[in-house]
Amino acid sequence: MGPSHALSGAAVWLTGSWALDYFADYHQSPLALAVGTAVCAGGALFPDLDLSGKVTRNQGGATVARTFGVFSLFVAEVMEKISLGVYYATKLSRDPRRNNGHRTLTHTIPFTVLVGWGTTALCAAYGKWAVVSILFFMIGLALRGLFDEWAERAGWVIVTLVSAAAAWFTFANLPGDRGYPMIGLAVGVGCFVHILGDMITKAGVPILWPIPIKRRMWTMIGLPNSIALRTGSKAEVVVLRTALTVLSVLAAVGLVAPSVLQRFNIEV
Ligand SMILES: [Zn+2]
Repeated sequence: MGPSHALSGAAVWLTGSWALDYFADYHQSPLALAVGTAVCAGGALFPDLDLSGKVTRNQGGATVARTFGVFSLFVAEVMEKISLGVYYATKLSRDPRRNNGHRTLTHTIPFTVLVGWGTTALCAAYGKWAVVSILFFMIGLALRGLFDEWAERAGWVIVTLVSAAAAWFTFANLPGDRGYPMIGLAVGVGCFVHILGDMITKAGVPILWPIPIKRRMWTMIGLPNSIALRTGSKAEVVVLRTALTVLSVLAAVGLVAPSVLQRFNIEV
């Protein structure tokens, strides 16, 4: 599921940027676009950083939890335990017992808003170092998601080094004024896209939390099994990923083509 989540994040960011450019005359530089797309793709994997494994034995966890080796596996362990803690702290009488926090707190709207706002606040407060760190983290997740087979073969050390280099290059070349709020927005949008993706493919996501419904705080909302996309089916995965890729490419071409044509003095 990793590549589909990452691709949907990239597709949504590119399509949204194209719409802003076309309808609202809001232009972004190619680098700002690339950063937003990578961060949104990474953000679209972030909620699954709540699937813990066996840190001491370096086993298990979601693919995304293994991006930075045992370090991200440890972060996932902590996120899972915090999520489970919040689940029990807010559960009502009809919410079932759980022994794992996966797909709870990190799959809610308040979490999405908090992550987006927190990212923006960090960038505003700590400037340069916060931006580099967040870019590093999100680019790592995006690499892991978009190029899963390569990442698997290369191993987490290479993924970490490539992320660090990409983050540094971006920071050195990105103008400071408009770059920071877009990073927070891209992370938040990515998280939200992930939740929607889980809603159409999985048994359910507590997207209404913390609204209590019939003595349940954690009502799982999703498509019924009969019409939900079965992620195991190869054909569906191929169709979905092709569609998302085509959408991304079209949006990217639509965004970049006018300025390229302009450079060669071609009237459109
Ligand atoms: Zn998920």
